[in-house]
Amino acid sequence: MSGYSQGESGLILNEPLLWEKGKKGRCGFSLPACDVDEVCFDEALAGDGPDFPDLSEVEVVRHYTRLSTWNFGVDTGMYPLGSCTMKYNPKVNERQAGLTGFADAHPLLPEARTQGALKLMYDLEQFLKELTGMAAVTLQPAAGAHGELTGILMMYAYHKKRGEIRTKMLVPDTAHGTNPASGALCGYTPVPVPVSEEGIMRVEDVRERMDEETAGIMVTNPNTLGLFEKNIRDICAIVHEKGGLVYGDGANLNAVMGYVKMGEIGVDVMHFNLHKTFSTPHGGGGPGSGPVAVNDILAPFLPVPRVEKERDRYRLVTTYPDSIGRMMTFYGHFGILVRAYSYILSMGGEGLKEASAHAVLNANYIKERLKDTFHLAYDQTCMHECVFSDANQEEFGVTTLDIAKRLIDYGFHPPTIYFPLVVHGALMIEPTETETKEDIDHFINTLKVIAREAKESPELLKNAPIRSKVRRLDETAAARKPCLSG
Ligand SMILES: *Cc1c(COP(=O)(O)O)cnc(C)c1O
Repeated sequence: MSGYSQGESGLILNEPLLWEKGKKGRCGFSLPACDVDEVCFDEALAGDGPDFPDLSEVEVVRHYTRLSTWNFGVDTGMYPLGSCTMKYNPKVNERQAGLTGFADAHPLLPEARTQGALKLMYDLEQFLKELTGMAAVTLQPAAGAHGELTGILMMYAYHKKRGEIRTKMLVPDTAHGTNPASGALCGYTPVPVPVSEEGIMRVEDVRERMDEETAGIMVTNPNTLGLFEKNIRDICAIVHEKGGLVYGDGANLNAVMGYVKMGEIGVDVMHFNLHKTFSTPHGGGGPGSGPVAVNDILAPFLPVPRVEKERDRYRLVTTYPDSIGRMMTFYGHFGILVRAYSYILSMGGEGLKEASAHAVLNANYIKERLKDTFHLAYDQTCMHECVFSDANQEEFGVTTLDIAKRLIDYGFHPPTIYFPLVVHGALMIEPTETETKEDIDHFINTLKVIAREAKESPELLKNAPIRSKVRRLDETAAARKPCLSG
């Protein structure tokens, strides 16, 4: 590599900032000479203007095209991030969301002109109710965490209406990090519930902690170890006995669609992550959608406006005196609702069930084939994801971070690492239902190669990645002293 720096050899193309590329006087267009007097439309805008670089058209096109090749996405390769459901989403659903009637509809159009959009929202709510056995749904929240906030605000409003101010919220150690954060944001003190040697909550641990000052419990099910909370019915009963409510974090619904109805096992309020389970890519900071479903007792508190059907007309209704109000401007991220609607209709009930079955099968296949290579934190049948650790590699001085970085050299996006916190050095893999057996086998074999390297030449892992454009980053410095100018 001498004489080269990363990204300057072969066809991995490096790219400076536009400001570094520009040359004064260069131009991206040519126009005939002006044959009328120049007029200034707005004095306020006169002057030099911002200091944009001068570039030719091809420089600008290449700049952005090169940058686009630096991305890794689920359209590029397997993306086994646990707790994220990075599955491939059928392009046909993108296409539906791009239809002019949907994409160009203005949110302030009168109801008479938006009957189709309102019908879509109404029907999507019915689908989500059917899938979960809940009584009513709001499509407003913009993300999973936003759904949690919505749900917990409703829980608060419910207790308040009964003349009770409760101060605590039970949150198991296997919850997603957003759960205690959402509880705290609504003024509740999170009370941790430990995890048993089986990787799930024990009924006694909930019984000991649940009291009349506790608003309820937030349960991620399947939990962040990828395990189903088998005691959930009993846990719900204990919480209800003390007047509390059960929040179900449904972000992992990809594992249980068509198999588990949250409403029937005692969940009072839950959110969905349409941008995990229902055909919108997750991550990258794009818009999300976290609809919330509730049972009958919480329905009066749902955000407004609500979509209602009267004979064949759809209306937006705001006259709910107990509503917690609006959670979003307008009605949520409509484009994502279209994708979810299209996905559910094209899959059908049986198709969704099959997707979950395959997601679970794929995760268990990985778990079984790798459990002799990597330490399996909880040796149980898993749901959609499995959690290993670096305990077997410790003696070679190799950590989870090194393993994850080495995967990049072999063309894989690393899985989630160091989460959940209950597993030291966690390596959390969620293959999803959309990967082929060949790709999963390739991933498994690659991890086995990396485990061999860890033993025989650990320095390979310590220096990884070596084949990428950027080598190992100093993540602490990147967080504390970010260099934003390139
Ligand atoms: C992703 C996730 C969330 C948060 O969802 P966002 O849309 O990222 O806010 C909450 N809980 C679980 C279990 C998740 O996996």
